[in-house]
Amino acid sequence: MMEKDQLVPRFAEPRFPIPHPYLIERSERCINCGTCITACPYDCHARLSTDPRRLAEPKNSCCRVCWACILRCPRGALSLYKNPDFVGLSSSEVFQPEIIRAIQNQATDGKVPVSGSGYGGLFDGEGFDGIWTDMSEIVRPTRDGIHGREHISTTVNLGRKIADLNGMEFDSLGNLKSLIPVNREIPIPILLDVPPYPVQDWVITSLALAASKWNTFVSIRADYVHQDRRSDKTAVSAAGKTVQATQVMDFFNHLIVKLSPESMEEHREKLTWASIVEIEPGLDQLAAINHVRTINPQIVTILRVPAHAGAPREIVHLASQGAEVIHLSTDISGYGDDKTPLWRCLPETHQKLIEAGIRDEITLLASGGFGGTYSQNYYFGCRCCFC
Ligand code: SF4
Ligand code: SF4
Repeated sequence: MMEKDQLVPRFAEPRFPIPHPYLIERSERCINCGTCITACPYDCHARLSTDPRRLAEPKNSCCRVCWACILRCPRGALSLYKNPDFVGLSSSEVFQPEIIRAIQNQATDGKVPVSGSGYGGLFDGEGFDGIWTDMSEIVRPTRDGIHGREHISTTVNLGRKIADLNGMEFDSLGNLKSLIPVNREIPIPILLDVPPYPVQDWVITSLALAASKWNTFVSIRADYVHQDRRSDKTAVSAAGKTVQATQVMDFFNHLIVKLSPESMEEHREKLTWASIVEIEPGLDQLAAINHVRTINPQIVTILRVPAHAGAPREIVHLASQGAEVIHLSTDISGYGDDKTPLWRCLPETHQKLIEAGIRDEITLLASGGFGGTYSQNYYFGCRCCFC
């Protein structure tokens, strides 16, 4: 595996623990016989340390819903049911509580969940980008003998792709005449985003730092990005020492400068050094792309298109007219202004681009959140890239 593809995950305790999906309840019919203690393979049942004659409340967090204790209880004193707090986590059609829980588990331990007959050992990796598959003889019988090991690359190129290698032009000396589209390679298909609600400066700086460590990018509004945000300031560390303060511009190589088509000239200087620019919806995004390229021909351009019923058609038009990366965005609940959900708009866009014969030429990004039914909304602070 290439070194650049390696990320070392660290366990991070979730700040908002998700309730356990199931609750075990012990009724007054219990005679404290202890059968459930021996029945449970996960030690969810135990006697009270203060009074060993009686059973403690079952530990729901370790229950794997095997039903053994319920089946073996001689008094029918145990019941198992869905935790209403868990069921109430989300009313989204797509991001159901189980999916939210799986995402949080991945964010907590940095590991990809494996289901089915997958197993650890030589075939698993260190993190999201270290996935190996074990292709059984059923899938691929001959190439590598009984089993084939295959590294799934998570690398993504942001930018326009070459449509036709056979169409490349060379001069009489054999030099390439055709224009090679500019693009940026990232080792994982994730770009970071600043949350769409007010956050403190340190949050944005932390996102920029994370983007630099992952060798990817974070999208930040142009009016937030200033040269004077470089590290010419100091701060006091946790150990009480004066240290150089980290600033967003320390990671300028990992910034996507986000601006409107109308504010190109206002932010012209930033476009001269920016690696990627994101153009918000506005009067003429295609004209804005051409404008940006006259300022910096090496820049990769992203056009943001909010999800709506007509977005797939609009994106096909933009892609056919020279757009290289499209960012399909939704609100904090995963919906567009007209309540078009991302889960419907994204595959439709993909399909329309295929039908137009240009799907392979552009990069498609998607972002948004998913809603909870009460107090909380969940937001992906990142975008996923679909090449
Ligand atoms: S098996 Fe049933 S009756 Fe016996 S201790 Fe457990 S819950 Fe109580
Ligand atoms: S259902 Fe299974 S895992 Fe859960 S408490 Fe009972 S025996 Fe333990």
